[in-house]
Amino acid sequence: MELSAFIRDVPDFPEPGIVFKDITPMLANNDARRAAVDELLSAADGQAVTMVAGIESRGFILGVPVAERLGVGFIPIRKAGKLPAETHRVEYSLEYGTDALELHVDACDPNDRVLIIDDVLATGGTLAAAVECVEATGATVVGASVLIELTFLAGRTRNATPIHSVFEVA
Ligand code: AMP
Repeated sequence: MELSAFIRDVPDFPEPGIVFKDITPMLANNDARRAAVDELLSAADGQAVTMVAGIESRGFILGVPVAERLGVGFIPIRKAGKLPAETHRVEYSLEYGTDALELHVDACDPNDRVLIIDDVLATGGTLAAAVECVEATGATVVGASVLIELTFLAGRTRNATPIHSVFEVA
């Protein structure tokens, strides 16, 4: 299945000059969604993953079925101020200003081997912050699996963790 056919480009969203990769057509198609989860799962091969972490919010939609297929838990990495209990908080820079991600301090522990899931790897700052959140718990990040990698933004260069992308946009 050609998954990229189910990703819609929305120009100038959320701001002029950005081509937004809209995964909603893929989510709306059962076969495409299942194929996407299959592809994301391949990053877990041989990694003894014990926990899947999803980055808010499309990483939740994709991460939960990945966790279910692996038979492991799912933990949400959220934007600042959303998680109710004590969190590790990591700030990261955006094009303008900063943002922050949070993870509950007890979401995972040093015995866990965590696979991180998101929809798009762009500049890589979000993923780097997510890795930092997980590592703050003492857990090991075995890698990240994303649907779309915008290679022209070189997100891999900001991340030491192994990254699997289902397809690349150059
Ligand atoms: P970055 O930190 O630049 O790698 O941005 C990655 C995060 O922003 C991911 O959580 C994506 O969901 C979102 N994102 C960045 N660029 C796009 C894009 N062109 N289309 C859709 N989502 C994007």
